[in-house]
Amino acid sequence: MPGDTMRLFRCNNCGNPIHFENRSCLNCGSRLGFAPDALAMHAVKPADDGLRWSRVDNPGYKYRFCPNAARDICNWLIPDHEPEEYCIACRHNRLVPDPNTADGLRRWRVIGDAQRHLFYSFLRWDLPRPTRKEDPDGGLSFDLKDDEILPDGSTKPALIGHNEGEIVIRTAEADDPTREQQRDMMNEPYRTVLGHFRHETGHFIWNKMVRDAGKIGGFRAVFGDESQDYGQALKRHYEQGAPPGWGSSYISYYATSHPWEDFAECFAHVLHIVDSLETAHIFGFAMAPRGHGEMAAQVDFDPYTMHDFDRIAEVWIPLSLALNAIHHSMGERDLYPFILTPTIQAKLKYVHGLITRQI
Ligand SMILES: [Zn+2]
Ligand SMILES: [Zn+2]
Ligand SMILES: [Zn+2]
Repeated sequence: MPGDTMRLFRCNNCGNPIHFENRSCLNCGSRLGFAPDALAMHAVKPADDGLRWSRVDNPGYKYRFCPNAARDICNWLIPDHEPEEYCIACRHNRLVPDPNTADGLRRWRVIGDAQRHLFYSFLRWDLPRPTRKEDPDGGLSFDLKDDEILPDGSTKPALIGHNEGEIVIRTAEADDPTREQQRDMMNEPYRTVLGHFRHETGHFIWNKMVRDAGKIGGFRAVFGDESQDYGQALKRHYEQGAPPGWGSSYISYYATSHPWEDFAECFAHVLHIVDSLETAHIFGFAMAPRGHGEMAAQVDFDPYTMHDFDRIAEVWIPLSLALNAIHHSMGERDLYPFILTPTIQAKLKYVHGLITRQI
């Protein structure tokens, strides 16, 4: 029953509420792990052989923990019949921080959390996610890359990016000061590690679900001609900036640089919106602002299985305005500092239609 078991789960040993990130139940102490095959958190206990783990409520289900659980980097389980060594998320890692250093371990934990949130969405929609072993030229891999210290002592930052499934994530951005400094320098309203994962995998999804699926025509009708030179386009973007009035048709400043970037940004936003709405759905969020009946909103559907993007936007817009206001009450910036104009909504709707296999 994925609809009511997502982010707020119940310990299947004692019934205590538990969360996606929990390692053990605060009430009964049971070890917890996320079972990607069931899309749920399960209380597990050591199996008789002492190597595997079985579900407390159904010992017939046997699992192994992801080897990264040993350093508390990951809490995902691997169904015992799967030959893969690492969990469905960690198996894509090619380069990882050094867990024997405090910096490496701390950063990997932050990055790992974001990575599993990303994979949760991929699993919910069953998006393509071949490893490099399964698809040597275009499979999905992650290099979690440290900055380089040059001989003169200066720092050469690792460059975040995507190339035919190979994604680089800069480990230094797991640290708030570094990421915030970068956000400020780039004049961005929002920058998170999860946002990086969602944006970069957007490029991979474009390869798999647009280019390789022969859907370029439909893509161009919405996003424009991506055959324009990418290097030139980025150069122009950094020299001249975005065209005037860009905010009416682009979700972000960077989205204006090239149709590929526009798509990746929109993919990230569909994930931001649907995943946030799912959390709101689980907690039963509903809005009925006094004197503003037009802003009433209720997430009375499972956003991951909802096919009507207009309905998603209709609920998300008032809800995000309310969440922004709550953030202001706490002296924080907007939670969702973006404006969804009709043109932008049409782009998001295309991406949503694509990943829910309606187009
Ligand atoms: Zn419990
Ligand atoms: Zn793992
Ligand atoms: Zn990009």
